[in-house]
Amino acid sequence: MKFLMFGAPMAGKGTLANMLAEDYHLPTISMGDILRESIESGSEEGKIAKGYMDKGVMVPTALVAKMIKNRLAMDDVQEGFILDGFPRSPDQLKVFIDDHVTDIDVVVNLEVPYEVLLSRVVGRRTCKDCGYIYNTSWNMGYKKCPKCGGEWGIRSDDNEETYKTRYEVYLKETLPILDYFKSQGKVLSVTGDKDPRQSYENMINEFKKSEIPGLKRFLEQR
Ligand code: AMP
Repeated sequence: MKFLMFGAPMAGKGTLANMLAEDYHLPTISMGDILRESIESGSEEGKIAKGYMDKGVMVPTALVAKMIKNRLAMDDVQEGFILDGFPRSPDQLKVFIDDHVTDIDVVVNLEVPYEVLLSRVVGRRTCKDCGYIYNTSWNMGYKKCPKCGGEWGIRSDDNEETYKTRYEVYLKETLPILDYFKSQGKVLSVTGDKDPRQSYENMINEFKKSEIPGLKRFLEQR
């Protein structure tokens, strides 16, 4: 099954993708993580990407399209995956369709009010070693990553100022492309304004109610 996580920055796409991946043994693909890894590696592509990411605006389509195509060609994602972060603009949707980048079975559209999104920004922590996502607003008191004991890192674009730009970019560039997937009957909207467990339950309940082909069979595989 091929999932696309959709929603504003801080909606919980990565968190729910990780929970679903763990329960149903699917690989996750995050465009943002691929870009951050390319920055870490010190590559030329990473240097270009960083300039855009620090401002909260889109990295050029040619660059992200090349990276995502490479990732989607790898063996581990041929049977299914949970994708987060591509396509993210009308330009990218055109590449997605024209170049047959991949097919998608289900689009999970996470709906969260702006005030809740904003309240999550300053609390996000990401494990430097395994990428586990935590938010201090969950009040679990984790001083270190509960999965691997790694140190917490704070993303350089997780501040309120940059967030406002990221959210505007989402409204202007990303949200309009949802119509394409809606017209294909692939979108499931999920309320994601509570804690991760509640949002995850909402998502699984939507899956159970859905008539999207293959989804019920997918749920039985757990
Ligand atoms: P994310 O981790 O999804 O919040 O993405 C962080 C940043 O990476 C975004 O603000 C963009 O600068 C960049 N980015 C992620 N995905 C894309 C994409 N599909 N196209 C262009 N830029 C992207």
